[in-house]
Amino acid sequence: MTIEDLGRAAALWVAFVGGLFVLRKVVPGKVHQGQLLKDGTRKSYKLNAFVILLLVCAFLGAGQATHLFSLSTVHRLFWPLLVVGNVFAVLETLWLFAVGRRARRARGAELKSVAHDLWFGAELNPDLWGVDLKMFAYVPSLIGLLVLNLSFAVVQWEELGHLTTRMMLYETFFTIYVFNYFQFEYGMLHTWDVIAENFGFMLVWGDAPFVPFFYSIGGWFVLRNPNPMAAWEAVALCTLFAVGLWVFRGTNQQKHDYKENPTAPIWGKTPETVGGKLLVSGFWGIGRKLNYTGELMVYFSWTLCSGAESIVPYVLPLWLVCLFSHRAWRDDQRCRAKYGALWDEYCRRARFRMIPFVY
Ligand code: NDP
Repeated sequence: MTIEDLGRAAALWVAFVGGLFVLRKVVPGKVHQGQLLKDGTRKSYKLNAFVILLLVCAFLGAGQATHLFSLSTVHRLFWPLLVVGNVFAVLETLWLFAVGRRARRARGAELKSVAHDLWFGAELNPDLWGVDLKMFAYVPSLIGLLVLNLSFAVVQWEELGHLTTRMMLYETFFTIYVFNYFQFEYGMLHTWDVIAENFGFMLVWGDAPFVPFFYSIGGWFVLRNPNPMAAWEAVALCTLFAVGLWVFRGTNQQKHDYKENPTAPIWGKTPETVGGKLLVSGFWGIGRKLNYTGELMVYFSWTLCSGAESIVPYVLPLWLVCLFSHRAWRDDQRCRAKYGALWDEYCRRARFRMIPFVY
């Protein structure tokens, strides 16, 4: 890794994140209201990530097609970009820490320990020039992940003159996932990170560099796997991906619809609830965390594209199994504290967390 490459990576990073920030600010988008906050207010969010994604794809497609640039540069600068991403996360955390504690002092709010405020963050929803930074962080994170993954396909195209079936499936699954993610951006407003977690190093580093650089790990193995894929394998992977996406997206959508309108039909029927607060219809009556299950199926589907030659790409879905198990447990604690006996009743009605009859 040379100093020149680090300099190029830093310039690329600043242009990418800065460009997305400007787009977030200027591109029109529908304004959504966030969940009710502890102080009784709601925050407004302009959500335009889907349009930004389309603009970025058009820009990358045009640049690639006209040979103005090649995404293989991103692949070549993978490691310098990773270093820059880590430095950026540390700097952003320090800035959030300083600004957040200053704001808390000005409000006369209690200050937690330095370690707590650095790791978990001092503020729930910090803004910069009217842009909510926590919701914005998903934009470079997920679009960055897509760009890194696409760079594997470009490298294979430049080396072989064609894409393998593995690569085509891998790229198709990821691209659908990211498009679907941003098409459902409003659903993020009801997720735990947005409603309950402050914005500190844990989320800053998790969004970038961790997600783009670690979640693209399978690309390295898809790129270098010359073994053909049998038709039945391709069909099985497409099925796993499609069912996983249906469960993942369907579960999150049902909760979102319920939070927006508690009487909106689910699977054609008026939703059943526990105490008018917890949904027990649709996926939420089958398991308490089927959104995690569906997402795991999606992750396994694209990891399996890399084949069985190495265990390394499987570290990603296995890591997610651990993350989701721990997260499900933490969310369980949170909901028991918030809903009390209603949560116990809900757990009796929806007995399993992630795998019906197993867990
Ligand atoms: P959830 O979307 O399940 O949100 C949990 C919150 O939903 C609870 O705290 C509670 O909040 C509310 N809730 C729980 N059960 C019910 C119910 N039955 N009826 C109504 N409200 C309910 O979890 P996450 O925020 O953790 O995850 C959101 C998505 O993000 C998931 O699809 C997950 O897969 C994905 N994710 C992906 C990660 C990745 O790295 N790929 C990492 C983390 C998450 P309240 O009632 O207070 O609103």
